[in-house]
Formats: sequence, structure tokens, C-alpha cells
Amino acid sequence: MVLMYHRIAEPTSDIWEIAVSPAHFEAQLQILKRVGTVVPLRELAEGVKNKRLKNNHIAITFDDGYADNYLTAKPILEKHGLPATFFVSTGNIGKEKEFWWDELERLLLYSAVLPAKLEIKVGNTLVSGALEEEVELSGDSEKTHQKWNACLETPPTGRAHLFFQLWQALKPLPYPQQEASLQIIREWAGNTAPYSRPDFISMSTQQLRELASHELFDIGAHTVNHPALAYHPKTHQEQEIAQNKKDLQKLTGQTIDLLAYPYGNFNEGTVKVAEGLEFKAAVTTETQVITKDSDPYRLGRVQVPNWAPEQFKFQLKKAWGLVN
Ligand SMILES: [Zn+2]
Repeated sequence: MVLMYHRIAEPTSDIWEIAVSPAHFEAQLQILKRVGTVVPLRELAEGVKNKRLKNNHIAITFDDGYADNYLTAKPILEKHGLPATFFVSTGNIGKEKEFWWDELERLLLYSAVLPAKLEIKVGNTLVSGALEEEVELSGDSEKTHQKWNACLETPPTGRAHLFFQLWQALKPLPYPQQEASLQIIREWAGNTAPYSRPDFISMSTQQLRELASHELFDIGAHTVNHPALAYHPKTHQEQEIAQNKKDLQKLTGQTIDLLAYPYGNFNEGTVKVAEGLEFKAAVTTETQVITKDSDPYRLGRVQVPNWAPEQFKFQLKKAWGLVN
């Protein structure tokens, strides 16, 4: 089984449920040590290829390259001597820049004041809406946004509805178009001064190098700009993955041969690109337990939300088939 984490942090807003608190993360690791054997993803992928897989083997992975992976996850993993693989999008490494989805969330859900109307063409989609009584962010709306789970719940406010429409329109676009649309949204929101929340930025090059040189940790590819690959032609997919691999190899001095598809979005062409670029394995975001018959370029993962120890144990046993 491969576990998927993104952030070890306690942000005030986490609409995609990708942050696990440091205390819960440590408790989860202690449980993993009891119920199975935590191995590097590389080893588990080799087990799939050789058809020699132990079903209590668990691999820990992180996506995106948030700075908290280095600052918070690394010391906890070290304390327990557990290996992990970090899939890193290199576009924001060493830059004080938030990912587009985080910035969009900040602008739409948390700006104190927004204009009453929005009408903007994002790619081929016209996104329009009126905020009416939500122009000023009320304390109640702010709390509602902080509690919103965008994976499971429909947008609870007008601002959240507009946010979600923009998010859907931005996700399939190539990076330059995303950035151009985001600039129009920044101008609309009256928020063009360069600003990034320090706890939402990616690792520095030094942090990434240090992580890579540690014997417990592996670095994997996750594209340069985190595109939803299946929406793009094969040449663009190849460019995003090859450049990311090259940049990571240069930064770390290591061979990068594990890949995670951003958003778990990929198609047949992506798998061909991964094989052509000599990746040994690639992971998706589909909830599947790995067996010896799994496809090494479509290895499923289980996303771990901010579960308390009891919930985590319950999921491991009942849903994922790992029995204590
Ligand atoms: Zn990602």
C-alpha cells in the first residue's frame, strides 16, 4: 500500500483536506510501524515488477514540494527512522510563490473586500457572478470557508461558488494561461502586490538538496508546473515531465526515476512518456491497494487526511485490509 500525503501543517484553511497536523502525523507513523513495514516506494515498486510483494509493506509519499515537508515532516520521519518519497514540482522551488490553487483560494475566500461583480474569460470558459452581500468578508463567511471541504461539499457561499468555477476553468490550462488569468483575477481583487503566505510556499533549493541527500528519503518527479496532464498534447506532457526530471537531477545529483501524476490526471500518452523517459514506476491518486498484478505505471495510493489515531487505525483495518 502506498500512502499519499501533501502537507504536514495546521493551516487555518484546508479546503482540499491535504494537511495533516504534526501530532496526527506522528501518531499515524507509530501505528504504521505496528501494523506493517514501512519501505521506500522504490522497493515496493520493485516488488511489483518482480512479483514479490509483501502485503504488509507500506510506502509513504508526499506530493508537490511544500516547505513543511522539509521543516515539519522530515524531523518526524527521521525520529522514527521511516523512509519516504517526495514528489516535487520544481516551478516554485526556491521562489516565494504560492501554488495557483492556494493563491486563488486566498484571493476569493479570504480577501477582506472584493468588487461586486466578476466577468472573466478563463481559457474558453466565461466565468461570471455577482457577490452582492458578500463583497465584504463577514466573520461568519470566513469561518464557513475555513470549514468547507471542497472535495465533498458544494460551495457554501457566493464567493466559494465563484472560486470553484474559476478553479475548474483554470485547472486544465497550460501554465502561462493560468498565470495570465490569475493576474487578471489579482487585478480584479485589487491584490497585485507580490505576496505569499510563508506557510504556503515550496522548499528552497537548499532544503530540497538536503532532503535528497538524506539516506531515508527519495525525490520523485511531479512536473515543472503541475499541469493536469491528460488535457495536454503528448509533446507538452513530455516537456513538463522531462524538464522536471532534468532540473531535479541537476539539483540533487541523483537519478530521478519515480513519478507522480499531478492531480492523478494522466492518459495513455502520459504512460508512454513515463516509459520513454526511463521512469521505473509512476503513482496515481486512485485509491487502490497494490498487488503483484498492479501496473508499475499506475500504482494506486491512499490519501491520508488529518485523521486522529483511532480513525486512521480503523481505515487501515477495515477499508484498506491491513489487519493489526
Ligand atoms: Zn500535486
